[in-house]
Amino acid sequence: MGTSCQIAGCKNDTPAALAEQRQCVLHFTLSLEAGCSEMRRETALGNAPQERQREIMKFITEHGERLARVATSGLHLTDDLKARILSTFLTLMNLRENLDRSNMRSSFGRSGHLPR
Ligand SMILES: [Zn+2]
Repeated sequence: MGTSCQIAGCKNDTPAALAEQRQCVLHFTLSLEAGCSEMRRETALGNAPQERQREIMKFITEHGERLARVATSGLHLTDDLKARILSTFLTLMNLRENLDRSNMRSSFGRSGHLPR
């Protein structure tokens, strides 16, 4: 308890649910969003290898769970922070949807007309 956020210049405490990350709620959502937009770019091209897609799936579930734990752990969150958590959930859900969509495209490609 009482560890501070590892991001330089940030004075917020790290909640117990984020002890492993050593980040405050704000920086956890920020880095999660950044990670998601990175992966979104990767999956948008539709040529991420299956291994990588599985990694991304795992990332989404693990971080979604962690975020849910943080959000429901009884921390005193400001309205801003609550809104930020919700929009991060949305980002995770959209990434998941993107992944499914690009998956569908590529399996169509394999079973359809595109030569391999
Ligand atoms: Zn922080």
